[in-house]
Amino acid sequence: MDLFEYQARDIFEEHGVPVLQGTVATSPAEAREAAEQIGGPVVVKAQVKIGGRGKAGGIRVAETPDAAHAAADAILGLDIRGHRAEKVMVVECVDIEEEYYFSILLDRAARTFLAMFSVEGGVDIEKLAEERPDAITRVEVDPLGELDAEALVAALPEDVRPAVIPVLHQLLDVYRAEDATLVEVNPLVLTVDGRVIALDGKITLDDNAAFRHDNRAELADAAGHLDPVEKRAREHGLKYVTLDGSVGIIGNGAGLVMSTLDVVSGAGEKHGGQKPANFLDIGGGASPETMTAALEIVLSDDDVRSVFVNVFGGITSCDAVATGIVEALTRLDDASRPIVVRLDGNSVDEGRAILEDFDHPLVTVVADMEEAGDKVTELAAMTPSVA
Ligand code: GDP
Ligand code: MN
Repeated sequence: MDLFEYQARDIFEEHGVPVLQGTVATSPAEAREAAEQIGGPVVVKAQVKIGGRGKAGGIRVAETPDAAHAAADAILGLDIRGHRAEKVMVVECVDIEEEYYFSILLDRAARTFLAMFSVEGGVDIEKLAEERPDAITRVEVDPLGELDAEALVAALPEDVRPAVIPVLHQLLDVYRAEDATLVEVNPLVLTVDGRVIALDGKITLDDNAAFRHDNRAELADAAGHLDPVEKRAREHGLKYVTLDGSVGIIGNGAGLVMSTLDVVSGAGEKHGGQKPANFLDIGGGASPETMTAALEIVLSDDDVRSVFVNVFGGITSCDAVATGIVEALTRLDDASRPIVVRLDGNSVDEGRAILEDFDHPLVTVVADMEEAGDKVTELAAMTPSVA
């Protein structure tokens, strides 16, 4: 999970990393108020999870609260390389002497952590890495050991190092304590009055470690990570991801669901470019309750025009899936969108027989996966959107 800059700022602050006073605002009025509270010139910064905000007009200096109001007005709603700015952060403005780069990340290839430092921060680091790799110092970090900060900051003037080094250690603390896979500060600045401050931070958290932290649900919520449908799916233990097409997908096993997405995308080309609306894996051993929840979740997406249930019975038996479809449609008596079902494997005959007996006008049983993909995209093209 990637965090917003303001969330990274808050986490830095909790761990003692020097940051600027900053407040999130979602309206120009709030931005003005924040600027009044800070007093003096501020910087108004778009909160989007993409770099290069400065160049895109997403970072503006405001000398007065009124100017902060105007800056927020200009930034809120702005599209920054495909990311809409819904929030701004208002921070005190500082006089910068130098801008450095620091990051610590999981180096999968080397199976360890890697720390990087450059005295030429504030710029596009990928570009710097490509054009002048020597300008970046890289130091391996033993996951259980100390950070060799001296080696990392060798390119800094000697008198500056003592102020920078403690901050690097604090940032490693953040990385470890929060189970991050990336902590990046660009720029880490030296101010004219000699302070070292993390001016712009980026944190990626390891979702596999989420269970060890009680701040994750809140962070994910604020980070706009879970849409309401994804949240409900998670409550039912379903793996669900929203996509932007029109064909709802329900399958068992990540591999089968992935190939179902491919089949639907391919078949959809012949039917006006219909595409999958989601990824939903009901997992192994799915019960009728799981199937009911899955159908409810997929049908709660108004962009869905037809649904493809593609189950290969292994641990999950086809009769349980068929029973789930019957129960779901009995409960969802206002369901109006066609459902194409392809069943195969464990108890396939029983499953198909249940659906034949049910004889629901919205349900079409198709034996072959390719054929089912064709049918479901054809139906999506014919069915009006409920959105
Ligand atoms: P990014 O462009 O998305 O990486 O956003 P940053 O937060 O890194 O800001 C980009 C640049 O704006 C920084 O490298 C600074 O040069 C400048 N900037 C940001 N905040 C301040 C500030 O408080 N004072 C000054 N003088 N410049 C700032
Ligand atoms: Mn930056």
